[in-house]
Amino acid sequence: MKPFMYVRAHSVDEATAAHAGRPTSRYLGGGTNLVDLMKLGVERPSTLIDVSGLPLDSVDELPDGSVRIGATVRNSDLAAHPLIRDRYPVLSQALLAGASGQLRNMATTGGNLLQRTRCPYFQDLGKPCNKREPGTGCGALDGVHRDHAVLGHSPQCVATHPSDMAVALAALDARVELHGARGGRDLPVAEFHRLPGDRPDLDTEIAHGELITGVLLPPATAGVPCAYRKARDRASFAFALVSVAVLLEVEDAVVRRVRIAFGGLAHRPWRATRAEEALVGTAPSGAAFERALDAELSAAEPLRDNAFKVRLARALACDVLRRLSPQPPGRTPCPTP
Ligand SMILES: Cc1cc2nc3c(=O)[nH]c(=O)nc-3n(C[C@H](O)[C@H](O)[C@H](O)COP(=O)(O)OP(=O)(O)OC[C@H]3O[C@@H](n4cnc5c(N)ncnc54)[C@H](O)[C@@H]3O)c2cc1C
Ligand code: SF4
Repeated sequence: MKPFMYVRAHSVDEATAAHAGRPTSRYLGGGTNLVDLMKLGVERPSTLIDVSGLPLDSVDELPDGSVRIGATVRNSDLAAHPLIRDRYPVLSQALLAGASGQLRNMATTGGNLLQRTRCPYFQDLGKPCNKREPGTGCGALDGVHRDHAVLGHSPQCVATHPSDMAVALAALDARVELHGARGGRDLPVAEFHRLPGDRPDLDTEIAHGELITGVLLPPATAGVPCAYRKARDRASFAFALVSVAVLLEVEDAVVRRVRIAFGGLAHRPWRATRAEEALVGTAPSGAAFERALDAELSAAEPLRDNAFKVRLARALACDVLRRLSPQPPGRTPCPTP
């Protein structure tokens, strides 16, 4: 590992000031992703600014009913927090579907949002990768890409974003709070991560040196049926092949509001706005769910080895929608994939 300087920040201003003027600095959260990448030589920061001790470790209800999650809240604490378990259970479920208990005890909210792709070519210095080293090519495009993107990818990069938490946050219309040299701002989680285009080296819209200070959840509507479901190669300790977060509000036998976000399909959590638009105002049924999901997934451009993800996404989301809808499950069957 390349030698580096370590700075422990005690305030947000101290953290951002320590970053300024040091172009290869990195903030350190739980270190579960960054330190692994440093050991592999993929990340080679000159300075690590440890932000894990900043006073951003609480989950608070704001006067308007929204909930603010501090950037250093650990994934396990967030999943277990009564405000999250009671009002945003889809977020608890997503967090508990990720990694392992030990990793969740270390991983922070900010670090989880900024964790890097698990594409094996990105992690292997001996392989070409436009994300790790712009202009070298994409090893996955013609190589091993069963786990890679089917939506929104480019010839420059076909990687997926790996966070489970971010998928639930995208469905919940959460916003990321940032603090940098020019002050504070916030961005919707659904727009925070970028599609690769011709700059796959940029994972997100975050500016150099900006610190994630928190995540803001809009006020929750009590009792909205919701669920996070993840399909993976092993029952635990594995990243999503496909995952889906769904919140479904049905009133007078008609879908009033629905929010759907997919993981494992794209370079960012994929908010399924076409499917949502197609469902609002319709009676929930297996056929309606499938039509809506087809409207979304018809944009998919699978690679040689991952067309199964499109069928899996449709079947997974259709089943979750069916289970969340108020009719008895037997009355709204989903067509088989
Ligand atoms: C074996 C294994 C299995 C895993 N399985 C899953 C899984 O199934 N699902 C899943 O979602 N995740 C999984 N993970 C990933 C894990 O969730 C992430 O490693 C973790 O969430 C990263 O959080 P961290 O605080 O440790 O980040 P760090 O490693 O500390 O940092 C990650 C990145 O975020 C930056 N950063 C950290 N905090 C801030 C901040 N406040 N502001 C700005 N930048 C910041 C760092 O500079 C770095 O670039 C797995 C990890 C491992 C090792
Ligand atoms: S998919 Fe993206 S991360 Fe993977 S090798 Fe290609 S450019 Fe690199």
